[in-house]
Amino acid sequence: MARLDIDRLVKRYGDFHAVRDVSLDVADGEFVVLLGPSGCGKTTTLRMVAGFIEPTDGRVRLAGNDVTLLPPWKRNAGMVFQSYALFPHLTVAQNVAFGLEMRKLARADIARRVEETLALVRLGGFGGRLPRQLSGGQQQRVALARALAIRPDVLLLDEPLSNLDAKLRQEVRVEIRELQRQLGLTTVMVTHDQEEALTMADRLVVMNEGSVRQVGSQRDLYERPADRFVAGFVGRSTFLEGTVEAPGRFRSDGGLALACSGGKTGRGVLAIRPERVEIGPTANGGLDNSLPGTVEFVSYLGAQIDIHVRLSPSDRLIVQIANREGGFAPDVGRPVHVGWPASAGQVFNE
Ligand code: ATP
Repeated sequence: MARLDIDRLVKRYGDFHAVRDVSLDVADGEFVVLLGPSGCGKTTTLRMVAGFIEPTDGRVRLAGNDVTLLPPWKRNAGMVFQSYALFPHLTVAQNVAFGLEMRKLARADIARRVEETLALVRLGGFGGRLPRQLSGGQQQRVALARALAIRPDVLLLDEPLSNLDAKLRQEVRVEIRELQRQLGLTTVMVTHDQEEALTMADRLVVMNEGSVRQVGSQRDLYERPADRFVAGFVGRSTFLEGTVEAPGRFRSDGGLALACSGGKTGRGVLAIRPERVEIGPTANGGLDNSLPGTVEFVSYLGAQIDIHVRLSPSDRLIVQIANREGGFAPDVGRPVHVGWPASAGQVFNE
């Protein structure tokens, strides 16, 4: 295993910047997830690391060696594709052997390595089957075995779980993570699924429009989002538009005077996490912000309830509460009080 250095990678298609100046160091054995909306450049970044796309600019170093211009089979990176990309006419064993044959290992070594790797992904005995004789989850494991068989310096996973159903996805998440830890694999995974990213990553990289917006732990991104985009993409936030009148004092466009943290004087947006807001029939004077409102919309999501509260003609707040027996009954039209501490409202200047 090895460290991976991505240094100011750029990919342009004509005038369009698919990836702008992306830099990232991945430590030996670390599991890093690139997270972002569709089209943000995460797959392009991963493919440049794997060698399937040539960068317009920037470098990729693997174990200290510059591999930027090497073809995929000459850099020791194992890649798992979203579609698995198994060869349909080759058996499971032949699929797993593919990268080893490209690297011209001796036949006996290949057979041994294939067997070992299939056992590792719990597919011992499946070597003679064709991909179409396997379930989706098993095919996904063959793709993983093919990537692992070459004993890669870095494992690259491109939305590897998106073709699996929800329950299987949760199981395979854990399997991949355990295998990655057991083997000490340096891993980069791409996903647009926030929950998948949060549960699997040691560290997350949030991308938007070709650029890295923030790199950090789950806690960093959630507690200290760098900008409005991250505050809305990782977890949820209600955004109130308005003006920072003085540090810690925000006035919404609807006229609400609110205590907040951060921000410079001038136009800004106040981001409030729905689960940090308290709601009840009476005001809670102990909180920095305490306001009357009216319940306008309620969605029951099972374990939690989202309550949309109208605070002014142009300010509406989402409050998330746990669905507990005998808890607060948020009927539409009901007058309520909401409250939150200043620290739960973060200001971003526009
Ligand atoms: P998704 O989750 O949808 O796969 P992504 O973040 O992985 O999205 P990329 O596949 O990296 O996005 O694409 C980034 C941008 O580059 C997109 O706007 C895409 O349309 C554009 N793009 C990708 N390949 C090409 C190409 N060959 N020519 C022109 N534009 C391209």
